[in-house]
Amino acid sequence: MRSHNDRTVLRLVRSGAVSRASLAAEAGLTPQAVSKIVARLIAAGLLEETGTVRSAARGKPRTSLRVAAGGAHAYGAYVDRDELRVVRLDLIGEVVSSSVVPLAPMFTPADVLDALAPLVSADEKVLGLGIAIAGPLDFTGGVVSPNGLPGWNAVPLRELARERLGLPVVVDKDTNAAVLAEAWRRPLADAAVVFVGTGLGVGLLLGGEVHRGARSGAGEFGHTTIQLDGPLCVCGRRGCVEAVHATVSGAEAARVLGAAVVSLVQLLDLDQIVLSGRKVLESPELYLKAMPEVDVSVTSYGPDLVPVGAGLLVLGELY
Ligand SMILES: [Zn+2]
Repeated sequence: MRSHNDRTVLRLVRSGAVSRASLAAEAGLTPQAVSKIVARLIAAGLLEETGTVRSAARGKPRTSLRVAAGGAHAYGAYVDRDELRVVRLDLIGEVVSSSVVPLAPMFTPADVLDALAPLVSADEKVLGLGIAIAGPLDFTGGVVSPNGLPGWNAVPLRELARERLGLPVVVDKDTNAAVLAEAWRRPLADAAVVFVGTGLGVGLLLGGEVHRGARSGAGEFGHTTIQLDGPLCVCGRRGCVEAVHATVSGAEAARVLGAAVVSLVQLLDLDQIVLSGRKVLESPELYLKAMPEVDVSVTSYGPDLVPVGAGLLVLGELY
């Protein structure tokens, strides 16, 4: 973990404050302090100089800085109900490589580790691995009991993966990873990423921060009841949004989701909704039409959204 000032400088450079002078002004640090921090970050391979820019007609030329994309990498993995998706990210969060492998029905935690091992290398540039999976889970302990994966009950996934792969590991819900990835690309404040894949959930960003809730259970939107005595759900209850949505298709499925999202927007006064997940990506227009009157968009990441967010759980610690 780098110091607070190191992280502040990295974050400012990523957002575009490129000269040492503008960094000092933005961070509220002395020019001397900024020079030291920048020298340290350049030595660590995390920042690089890009040449000189002349900021004013008579000002002296200033060296501009940028985050060194190749300076550090992180892996992100998404354990879905039928496949494992892994990306390797560079320091600016761009995908360097990605792979997807199928997971057999009733796969076990050991099966996931067997699938992960050949896709992840613990080389010196790699900061760690983020794993995203369905909730519920305990974020601080890295212990997961995902809905829809039979036999997975209180699995200490973080410890198991750390031992097997020899890397620092962070585990979070798939939907939290999704909202982290969206907030990495553009400013979001009060937003929900609605994820409709093999399961259905939301990642919440409230006041610019990922909202996990008291027991990391926030965002189990797919398991809120929309139809009393409705169809049986993977969570064991009846009439959940996820179960009702799964019994219909096309415009009717979009209508079910739209009705549920209206309640969510009203409850939390959200101003941005991002739609994602393979069901949405199959027919984005249908889902867009069914949404309430707020700023609604479809994710720009495609199927890499969740694994990228998982990798950002690790990379984000540098910023
Ligand atoms: Zn349910």
